[in-house]
Amino acid sequence: MSVFERFEGHEEVVYFNDPSTGLRAIVGIHSTALGPALGGTRFYPYASDDDALQDVLRLSRGMTYKAAAAGLDLGGGKAVIIGDPRRLKCEELLRTFGRFIESLGGRYITAEDVGTTREDVDLVRRETRFVTGVSPTMGGSGDPSPMTAYGVYLSMLACAEEVWHEHSLTGRRVAVQGVGKVGYSLVKLLVDDGAHVIVSDVDVDALAAAVRDFGVDTAATDEIHAVPCDVFAPCALGGGINDETIPKLQCSVVAGAANNQLERPDHGRALADLGILYAPDFVVNAGGLINVSDELQGYEPARAKASVENVYRTLREVFTIARENHISTAEAADRYAESRIERISRVGLYWVPGGKSWRLRDR
Ligand code: NAD
Repeated sequence: MSVFERFEGHEEVVYFNDPSTGLRAIVGIHSTALGPALGGTRFYPYASDDDALQDVLRLSRGMTYKAAAAGLDLGGGKAVIIGDPRRLKCEELLRTFGRFIESLGGRYITAEDVGTTREDVDLVRRETRFVTGVSPTMGGSGDPSPMTAYGVYLSMLACAEEVWHEHSLTGRRVAVQGVGKVGYSLVKLLVDDGAHVIVSDVDVDALAAAVRDFGVDTAATDEIHAVPCDVFAPCALGGGINDETIPKLQCSVVAGAANNQLERPDHGRALADLGILYAPDFVVNAGGLINVSDELQGYEPARAKASVENVYRTLREVFTIARENHISTAEAADRYAESRIERISRVGLYWVPGGKSWRLRDR
């Protein structure tokens, strides 16, 4: 396979190698059709360079869809640093990485992801402007998880409208898989709305905190997806909706924060065939991205929160597209994002390389 075939339609893939710090990084810029490509940096001990490349290609493409569906003037990108962060991560390496990001002139803007922390991002910020998710003391927006949870909660309301014609989750049974940063905030919103919440987590401390703080019920980690409930909310890892779990689901709605919930694209169709409403993950969990992207205009919490509220409207539109075209909601979400890229990139603004201004697209 030629390198261009392997890049699956990506605009740009850049490799960085710095033997003195051990930095080996790949940036995947999938699309800048709507604006600069924003996505976090994953620091992970990949089994091979090829695995790292596959991951950055897959993740950066996903960011294009997430940003487009969220209505942001942003494209999709992602970075991976190859290696064990516990062994390799140090100030020299992160600042070298920052200079690498700076050299891309604003076509890619980075942020925190698996294996990187706020402190790491603050170090990267000392070398480049093209980074978001920095500390509030540096003008950043802080932890995105509460805003992600808020978007998930609003998505559940959109699902309640669609399925039960009610704008409330009062009295509904919601099973939350994973009560980490997003799941915990989500449980609070659900309990405040009068929902009956059941949680599970492999981390006993996280589980105990949710029970202590909200008085919720628990289920075993290998049973939470099979709990009879109105809404199943995957908020742990991806791939949880698969051939094995789908027949066991006893819910009317699947809506949660986890990325890549469907193990395969056709699992969206499988849920629809069972009469289960699937709220597509990249629409539902965009709150964190929307919040962090507000930093590019100088972070204002009220404006960011108002933008996160668009998640509700977007999801309603996705449901309408699915209904009117007799397609699954997963396919409808892809169409919604692709249509926005197609329409807006023709007439919109584009980012001038160098990252300093926007210009009218000259086509
Ligand atoms: P987190 O690591 O804080 O929480 C995940 C929780 O899931 C942990 O408590 C973990 O112990 C638990 N878990 C892992 N495997 C489990 C299993 N098999 N069963 C039950 N629990 C299990 O992560 P997070 O930031 O809360 O993110 C949750 C998900 O949402 C991830 O898939 C993440 O990619 C996605 N997401 C997060 C954000 C954000 O703002 N944090 C934004 C978009 C998407």
